[in-house]
Amino acid sequence: MPLHFIKQDITKLECDAIVNATNNTLLGGGGVDGAIHAAAGGKLLEECKRLGGCDTGDAKITKGYNLPCKYVIHTVGPIWRGGFVGERALLESCYKKSLALAKEKGCETVAFPLISSGVYRYPKDKALSVAVETISGFLLDNEMTVYIVVFDKASYQISEELFDDVADYIDENYEDESSDSHLFYRNFSIRSEERRLDFIERLGENGEEHIQCELSLIDMLADIDDNFAVTLLKLIDLRGITDVECYKKANVSKQTWYKIMNEKDYKPSKNTVISFAIALELSLKETKHLLSTVGFALSKSSKFDIIIEYFLLNEEYNIFTINETLFKFDQPCLGV
Ligand code: ADP
Repeated sequence: MPLHFIKQDITKLECDAIVNATNNTLLGGGGVDGAIHAAAGGKLLEECKRLGGCDTGDAKITKGYNLPCKYVIHTVGPIWRGGFVGERALLESCYKKSLALAKEKGCETVAFPLISSGVYRYPKDKALSVAVETISGFLLDNEMTVYIVVFDKASYQISEELFDDVADYIDENYEDESSDSHLFYRNFSIRSEERRLDFIERLGENGEEHIQCELSLIDMLADIDDNFAVTLLKLIDLRGITDVECYKKANVSKQTWYKIMNEKDYKPSKNTVISFAIALELSLKETKHLLSTVGFALSKSSKFDIIIEYFLLNEEYNIFTINETLFKFDQPCLGV
């Protein structure tokens, strides 16, 4: 998966490079820096001493020594001073410079901690947005698997409003396998109902045309006896986006895309189908149709499915926001 969230000690990760959130001296410190030096052994410090320090926002690379990774990329994040002295640009630069170094060394897998979000006090939710936006921007033009490593999941935050909203939605809609599925529709949160009415009002004079368009997409999906790849290509054409745009938005790697296209009997997982539904910005109804063409359905007794429904109903198609939310609720992320 191109961008993935994991909860782990970064020093244990077997990937090509891990990123160290360090200070200007590069001579070790506390937090993740201390953990990386302790696990890598004294030779890392020796190499760091020869590098002559590092500017804030810049990055330098060393070998991984006793760590399971090949390289350590050392970057110096900004100290948070209220956000008024260019902290964001410097933090973006940390991610960009680190990714550029990783690319230069041919790394295929790179893991980042949440730079600046510890001792340097960058608010975690803001630090996370900068990480996700900068890394996903890079991934639009590059093939790499990037992990954002969240050490302390409790402090890892999607915005409180989004978290509360999704939590409410799960509470209102979660059902035991045995209960009546029709209840689901009666239990729409007030917010979703308001959005629905708002949507109908906004349709105005063009409403009919819009509804027509939605129906024709569903008709098309209902008729389908193509394999998944052909269905996908038809939908991509209908949406007027390119194949690359689509699989990037779906958080799917180029390799997986080729597999879908080349393997005649490829059977997608439910996760993959939903990832593409998000990338194609399908409505809830359209997503259900697409899922049904490959034998899947959304269930009210699955937290994962309810979270997906929440985002589809709210027309929020940013897969990274969705993945942050799934991660926060201990659910698997989208993309393969
Ligand atoms: P900074 O000085 O850039 O804020 P810190 O090391 O204090 O760097 O914190 C950066 C982030 O790394 C924090 O979110 C912290 O929880 C996290 N962190 C600390 N130790 C580890 C570890 N072993 N693996 C992954 N992340 C870690």
